Amino acid sequence: MRPEILFPLFAPVTSLKGVGAKVAPLLEKLAGPLVRDLAFLKPTGLITREPATVATARDGEVQTFEVEIVSHVRPHKIGAPWKVRAVDSTGFLHLIWFGGYGQHLERKLPPGVRKVVSGRVETFGSEVQIAHPDYIGEPGTDAPEVEPVYPATAGITSRQVRAYVERAVERLPDLPEWQDPAWLARQGWPSWKEAVEALHAPSSAAELEPSAKTRQRLAYDELLAHQIAMQRRKAARRARPAPAARPGEASRTIEAALPFTLTGAQQRALAEIRADLASGERMSRLLQGDVGSGKTVVALLAMADAAGSGMQAALMAPTEILARQHYERIAPLLAAGGITAVLLTGRDKGAGRAEKLRALSSGEAGVAVGTHALFQDEVVFKALGLAVVDEQHRFGVNERKRLQDKGEAVHLLSMSATPIPRTLELTQYGDLEVSRIDEKPPGRKPVATRAVPSARLPEIAARLDAAAGAGTQAYWICPLVAESETADLAAAEARAADLRARLKASVGLVHGQMPPAEKDAVMTDFAEGRIAVLVATTVVEVGVDVPNATVMVIEQAERFGLAQLHQLRGRVGRGSGESSCVLLYDGLSEVARTRLDVLRRTEDGFEIAEQDWALRGGGDLLGLKQSGFPDYRLADPVAHRDLLYAAADDARLQLGRDPGFTSDRGRALRLLVHLFDWRADRAVTG
Ligand code: ADP
Ligand code: MG
Repeated sequence: MRPEILFPLFAPVTSLKGVGAKVAPLLEKLAGPLVRDLAFLKPTGLITREPATVATARDGEVQTFEVEIVSHVRPHKIGAPWKVRAVDSTGFLHLIWFGGYGQHLERKLPPGVRKVVSGRVETFGSEVQIAHPDYIGEPGTDAPEVEPVYPATAGITSRQVRAYVERAVERLPDLPEWQDPAWLARQGWPSWKEAVEALHAPSSAAELEPSAKTRQRLAYDELLAHQIAMQRRKAARRARPAPAARPGEASRTIEAALPFTLTGAQQRALAEIRADLASGERMSRLLQGDVGSGKTVVALLAMADAAGSGMQAALMAPTEILARQHYERIAPLLAAGGITAVLLTGRDKGAGRAEKLRALSSGEAGVAVGTHALFQDEVVFKALGLAVVDEQHRFGVNERKRLQDKGEAVHLLSMSATPIPRTLELTQYGDLEVSRIDEKPPGRKPVATRAVPSARLPEIAARLDAAAGAGTQAYWICPLVAESETADLAAAEARAADLRARLKASVGLVHGQMPPAEKDAVMTDFAEGRIAVLVATTVVEVGVDVPNATVMVIEQAERFGLAQLHQLRGRVGRGSGESSCVLLYDGLSEVARTRLDVLRRTEDGFEIAEQDWALRGGGDLLGLKQSGFPDYRLADPVAHRDLLYAAADDARLQLGRDPGFTSDRGRALRLLVHLFDWRADRAVTG
């Protein structure tokens, strides 16, 4: 329940003087429906008014003049402005108004009076004018030298918005301090109320920068509120009991049967997962690691722990071919440990399917590997205890949940091959535990990466043909060019035809609009070496492992994001042969060039994700939203990243020390969380 002290802030904007049915929807569009939303509406800039005379007036500047009114010039035709002639010791200034304010103006500005007027100056030759001055006052009462500018929209000006914001700010209650006093003192930050007031009364542009003390304070409040909300959700989820699973004979046998030893990063991730599984509480963990970093074997051992502890485990993959590849790799290992696995996909029909379902409901099968087919209604597990979701972003929240709901209290391990920067990890997945595999299995050769102008395509194709003659396989990626999939498809089809004409080697085509079975067939032909060059739109299955494919050609590489290029490149360099990646480009902007440089320099997905993030900067709001960044009002993910890390730590310490939020600070923090109101339905994860 919302504390009473916050009620004034959570009142609708219509409770403010002057906000009626006409203005309210406009304010709602700009800020939100509540008084609080106006109080948190960040100014977009600052107007600086400089004192001037007609002689020093500058076109386009906002300036303030002290003048004497001379005369009124009525509009000579409909649509012409009302003109007021004024003068100072250096010349004439014309004030003009459109839209019939005449009589009112004659009363307010009689000839002979002196006034201070301010507004944006327009000069036409020697004529100086201000259309609709935004300030008119008595001499001596200076126009404000600086004032914040707010977003405006049709029907409401920035100045009107500002007036409503001021009314909202008057409603701010005095709230107890929720920040740690020592931290506050060290940062030199004002109180919350002072900070909000200062936000709307900047005296210089620097005060609106993310580095300003007031902005920092407010950003930290917002970030901390979000981190606490997410971590409380995490704690609540964890507090739900779940049966414990521990490594046993089966896992030991399987690990010993692996043709390799686990990397340090794999061991760390496995240890974190095992600690969760053995805790008696329900696991919700995200396992992040680049394509090829070896997530599957970590999941395999966790599943073996579960199956060896009397539970069942399920591994769900987004496509049939990926599920089958998983099954073929892990079933023999599980069998070595005495665990039966079944593969369940949409293809299973009739008696075969019935038999698999029986094995799952009887508990005879300890592990199920499959696609969406795993969470269909007819599938019943005897005792599902661990759900592993591979390529988790390819499933909806509900799909993951449906699988998890196949058991009483099911541990969840989500896997993602898209490394994300730590900033996003904290803001997007702050309600999950996260393990990272940030080290590749040994022996991987770096992928030689080159950027080549697309004019040299014929030469690249010829070299590819020669290599294919010697047994090399290659991916050839066509970019998303158009908004429409059909147009993309046409481009890919044209390229496939073009390559078929150029090359002696066999060329296949796979794209997003193919029926799954057909797509699988082409992928299988490629995986089994019957196709040498696979032309694809970006749908190439992320997880599919074709070790013999050693060349990746990406057309119009400048159109791809850094992370995407890295993902694509990650499909080669998996075998023992030398691999290469050719980035064909049409034209390179400065940013595109920097991106390709980053890609040439490193193959560490986490490093690339950080660089990608930094290159996008804080200005690219659309990009930030697309990457799942929450809609913060005052925090800026790039500029305030250190504050974000601090807030995450602060939240964690607080939850550890005072889980019930009953201390003085705890009670104040509850207000903070309510103030920002991070409800669960705004969360990205479910
Ligand atoms: P991803 O993280 O993309 O799912 P996979 O689990 O498919 O990666 O692993 C990629 C390849 O690396 C597989 O062929 C796997 O057998 C191999 N692999 C995994 N771990 C190791 C290791 N520690 N040493 C050597 N090879 C490994
Ligand atoms: Mg994988």
